[in-house]
Amino acid sequence: MKLRSSELGASSKKPRVPSSEFGASIKKLRVPSSGLGVPGKKLRVPSCELGVSSKKLHVPSSWLGASSKKPRGPSSGLGVLSKKPRAPSSELRLSGTALGTWTVPPTALAAGRLRHDIVVSSYRRFPMNSPDFAHIGRTLRGMPASDGAGVRLTRVIGTPQLEMLDPFLMLDEFGTDQPEDYLAGFPDHPHRGFETVTYMLDGRMRHKDNHGNEGVLVPGSVQWMTAGRGLVHSEMPEQQEGRMRGFQLWVNLPAAEKMSQPQYQEFAPDRIPQLQPADGVRVKVIAGRVGDVAGPIRQPATDPVYLDIELAPGVEWDVDLPEGHNAFAYAFEGAGSIGEGDATRAIVSQEIAVLVGGRTVRFRAGEGGLRAILVAGRPLREPVARYGPFVMNTKEQIMQAFVDFQEGRF
Ligand code: FE
Repeated sequence: MKLRSSELGASSKKPRVPSSEFGASIKKLRVPSSGLGVPGKKLRVPSCELGVSSKKLHVPSSWLGASSKKPRGPSSGLGVLSKKPRAPSSELRLSGTALGTWTVPPTALAAGRLRHDIVVSSYRRFPMNSPDFAHIGRTLRGMPASDGAGVRLTRVIGTPQLEMLDPFLMLDEFGTDQPEDYLAGFPDHPHRGFETVTYMLDGRMRHKDNHGNEGVLVPGSVQWMTAGRGLVHSEMPEQQEGRMRGFQLWVNLPAAEKMSQPQYQEFAPDRIPQLQPADGVRVKVIAGRVGDVAGPIRQPATDPVYLDIELAPGVEWDVDLPEGHNAFAYAFEGAGSIGEGDATRAIVSQEIAVLVGGRTVRFRAGEGGLRAILVAGRPLREPVARYGPFVMNTKEQIMQAFVDFQEGRF
């Protein structure tokens, strides 16, 4: 890849950008996709980091400027280059799905630190105080699947298209009025190494494990189960007819907690704070915070956010996520959009929107209103070895899980 002299100035190697705009603007860089992953090039972009929505970009620390100030900037909607927390200064984290088009902070461009590998194609000015908006990196429809003893559901995360979104390993939506789709339930099965989160919207589900825990999930209730070192449980419908609807999310545990004691955080509907932060906005805070209100779930490892958001037709609402979290929204009623300005993109029911860029998520409901879950978590960035209901760090640990399960040690 050659620096285009027309854009950067061949003699100085500096981008031709008025210096007055440093600090108030971020630059959009274009890296030809043909240049990615070529041995010997300075850009190395493994394809598997964080599923499909993010890439890791190694950049010489000299690009960052002597101050080494944490580079962050408003998003152009095409991804934000930001320093990985606690990473060596030479490693930057790049989020974005528009291959080859990303945004970098002004510090990386200042004082001729731009290298020949990158071509500045355009830049854009942002007001200094503009919120740092998240945008949709990609949208995907779930896949019809069958699990347990034949329950029909839609798998949204944990598919060939979206294997995981660290720390989220799986998302299933179940929703049907047909008893034959759910009656078979999920008879006894094991879990090890992660957490299962069940959020019921309609219907009743009884759970029972081999440690003597038992309960019934009713509409609006949440069960955050830390499987840890392992348990065997069943999840069976507590109804013969009517509607069954909800979500099951799998959240990974860090290596240090994979063999922890199993535990439950289970909350009835009235224990989940429900807010009306603005006209036409109703939010249930299962985990994380909205303003001063915190949800009941505690999980320091991944610091999860799990919101059930309902917007009246045409209503717009902004919500902030913790910095550095991976996030997605999944619309399950109505339609609308996410993002700000030119980078706003539509979301429709039964589609997941993987979010990239900034921390502020701007939702806008369409004519029929919108209901979506917004889920975010701190990525663990650890190796994942998974097989069915076991999710560990290595293949050997998976084999051990099989042995332990077969020998009744769960
Ligand atoms: Fe289960």
